[in-house]
Amino acid sequence: MSDCLRCGACCAHFRVDFSVYETASYCGSVPDGLVVEVAGATVRMRGTDHWPPRCAALTGTIGERVACAIYEWRPSPCREFEAGSDACARARARHGLPALAADG
Ligand code: SF4
Ligand code: SF4
Repeated sequence: MSDCLRCGACCAHFRVDFSVYETASYCGSVPDGLVVEVAGATVRMRGTDHWPPRCAALTGTIGERVACAIYEWRPSPCREFEAGSDACARARARHGLPALAADG
């Protein structure tokens, strides 16, 4: 949605963890170079556990214009994240952005 193209706050707020089986080397889609190992079968988007957090795949300026460099290949947490959710509002608040309007 267009709000997200002017935001990107969630890509620079949460740890983004998912199964190693979503990575390219396991016949998934997420490029191996953009993930770091966590433990067991869990991996994390590179940059999301740095401080301040920012996913290595995020391009642009938060709150102005952003894009996901691997949008077609992004992992499941990113596909499932809901714009307009409470989590979305928390991420936006941390970046000084107001919650999305109820109608998106
Ligand atoms: S924080 Fe919400 S509005 Fe911003 S990019 Fe994420 S889902 Fe979209
Ligand atoms: S992979 Fe893309 S959608 Fe997911 S956190 Fe990184 S920049 Fe955001």
